[in-house]
Amino acid sequence: MAEFLYETHMHTSEVSACAANSAKEQIKYYKIMGYTGVIVTDHFVNGNNGCDRNLSWNEKMHFMASGYENAKIAGDELGVDVFFGWEFSIRGSDFLTYGLDLDFLLKHPGIDRMGIEKYSATVRKHGGYIAQAHPFREAFYIEKCYPVSAHLLDGIEVFNAMDSKTANAKALSFAEEYNLPKQSGSDSHSIGNYIYGGIKLRERAQSFNDIINAIKSRNIELIM
Ligand SMILES: [Zn+2]
Ligand SMILES: [Zn+2]
Repeated sequence: MAEFLYETHMHTSEVSACAANSAKEQIKYYKIMGYTGVIVTDHFVNGNNGCDRNLSWNEKMHFMASGYENAKIAGDELGVDVFFGWEFSIRGSDFLTYGLDLDFLLKHPGIDRMGIEKYSATVRKHGGYIAQAHPFREAFYIEKCYPVSAHLLDGIEVFNAMDSKTANAKALSFAEEYNLPKQSGSDSHSIGNYIYGGIKLRERAQSFNDIINAIKSRNIELIM
């Protein structure tokens, strides 16, 4: 049976201050690893984003999209499908956001200061998808990380290659308790590390919506 691998959580050094490899280097590596597609999820401007805080909203958002844009160019050359997402942060809790574009960001200045209720409602109103990343992560840089109310989420990361076994196990129980669609991601910040996550689809996605719908309808296999 054919299977198609997709990375759901990847950073680029163009945008994420904590990432070590460029979009091009990352995509090349995913190609070697046999992935069909990658969702670029750089840290949003309320997270570990490398932009100059004095830039205008428009400039910040163009910066935000630059990792994806470079990844897309590399993906088009190498035959890897590349999609735009981001990782939105609210005091140590992170939310992978899919299915929206740069135009949405340009039209929503100040979205970075929203709380989770308002942010989730805004994303969904515009047809986007929101999943909590590594909901039980414990790390020195986190003030507090805990799962938000399940009704604010479309899915949840139950395997994050950078998280502990305990944290991933707690996330899996949470997803099962609240019947949330599950996803897995590498949270890759550099090549050669942590490419142990992602999802498998039975057919090649023709659009980003195909991937989102496959996660929502639980028509995927988790790479863990
Ligand atoms: Zn990071
Ligand atoms: Zn991440």
